Amino acid sequence: MKRILPFVAATLLGAVCPAAEPPPPRARAEVEAVLRAVPRDPGVAAQRLKILLVAGPKDHGPGEHDYPKWQKDWAPLLAKAPNVEIVTAFPWPTAEQWEGADLAVFYLKTQWNASQLEQIQKHQSRGGGLVTIHWAIGCDQNWHDHARHFGLSYKSASYRHGPVNLRLALPEHPIALGLPRQMPFVDEPYWPFIGDPEKVKVLATSDEKIHQGDDRRQNPGDDTVKTIPVFWTYEPEGTQARVFVSIFGHYMWTFDDPYFRLLLLRGMAWAARGNASPYRFDALATEGVALRN
Ligand SMILES: [Zn+2]
Repeated sequence: MKRILPFVAATLLGAVCPAAEPPPPRARAEVEAVLRAVPRDPGVAAQRLKILLVAGPKDHGPGEHDYPKWQKDWAPLLAKAPNVEIVTAFPWPTAEQWEGADLAVFYLKTQWNASQLEQIQKHQSRGGGLVTIHWAIGCDQNWHDHARHFGLSYKSASYRHGPVNLRLALPEHPIALGLPRQMPFVDEPYWPFIGDPEKVKVLATSDEKIHQGDDRRQNPGDDTVKTIPVFWTYEPEGTQARVFVSIFGHYMWTFDDPYFRLLLLRGMAWAARGNASPYRFDALATEGVALRN
């Protein structure tokens, strides 16, 4: 019985969410080459940054959407960088925490209601940066208002879990500099997005059979492929604010992938108010990460 139960549980779970195998570690030599490809700037840490890490209650299965674990792991990781103040908020920042924040990073599922967007507006109007990870882009209402702050919005629609071939769309962008043009990941893209795609800069994409996701909208007979955004930047009109969005971040193993870390860490540094060097956190990309020799 003891042996059967886990099997039954795994089978039932597999029916709703197909099992994915963790990706192999990246090759050390390749990762080191990427790290060497960026300009060295001794002044990278000159600007002090107050960074809010905002997490919410965990959802999904083990090893997925573990917002509290991310916050617990990434607060001390980022605190290793020089000249930063890391503040953790759960499930939403207080007025005092917002005060003077150069950057707010959201990894959670939240509504993005009018009161939340008002606080986002205030933060952006004084040039504050924003980063959202994975389901943090999911919004429950007023999608076009939400898109005005984040570039594009996502209403629970299509998605797919599993291997993804991520392709750089803007390899010359500072956030993507030196990274391979194509990188295999095991994570989860979303589509379609709401908003004007002309207003964002898409950094990396995935080609998806848009009618064959894991959601209920799938249509096995339709092989239509579309190139969909997975990482983008956005600069809201009339502000000095910057936004970086990562759709990846479903599986917790992605956070220990040095290429994902580089995209996220550089996205954070790029988005922070004052526009610090995007490479100031690069050294954290391999901190505690398994690499293949
Ligand atoms: Zn997910």
